[in-house]
Amino acid sequence: MQGQPSNRYYQSSPLCPICQDAKETFEHFLTCPHHLAQEARTLQLTSLADALGKLRTPCGVTSTILQGFHHWIHPPNSCSRAPTTGSLAGADIVLTAADHEQFHDLGWYQCSLGRISIKWQQAVEEYSRRDNLFLDSSLWASSFIQLLWSYTKNLWQHRNEFILGSTPEEEATKLLAKLHDQVSYHYAQFSSDPTYILPRHHHLFTQCTIV
Ligand SMILES: [Zn+2]
Repeated sequence: MQGQPSNRYYQSSPLCPICQDAKETFEHFLTCPHHLAQEARTLQLTSLADALGKLRTPCGVTSTILQGFHHWIHPPNSCSRAPTTGSLAGADIVLTAADHEQFHDLGWYQCSLGRISIKWQQAVEEYSRRDNLFLDSSLWASSFIQLLWSYTKNLWQHRNEFILGSTPEEEATKLLAKLHDQVSYHYAQFSSDPTYILPRHHHLFTQCTIV
């Protein structure tokens, strides 16, 4: 998304720590094409679908939400359309409108942050009435928002574990590797230009060799 700040507050490099291929905006973090990021997203989308099932979400609503995520991350060649597009059934028409508003007006990035179209709730209400599901659609909508927050939070945790490690041992290994890189960098700078540091500090680089 243009105009988004880079990640200067999150780490020292503005690049995505996973793919190292693009500036890490929050939208890039949510759509990073690296296979490790994709694997984490697939896992979290499966969890999201399971959780929607536990809320007794109508199947058509769940599949439309999952398709929306998929089309946002992997845009189709043609315009994204809800699976219910063209159906004249009342509930299907509302679901098609929900998908259209979320995808084309609000954006799926906003959905990832919990900013959902009100029409999702209306669609759930329509299916609930049609199929005698007795769902509380407003409770469903607030639960859906919480699930979206969990989805994004879990991906953020995955991103942080990629940088810092997920266990104390991994954290120590990654920290040591980072320190070693910094030491190597400073040695290289000093060997190419001894004025890189003050003469009185030269002993730091001449008394020991880098291992
Ligand atoms: Zn990336």
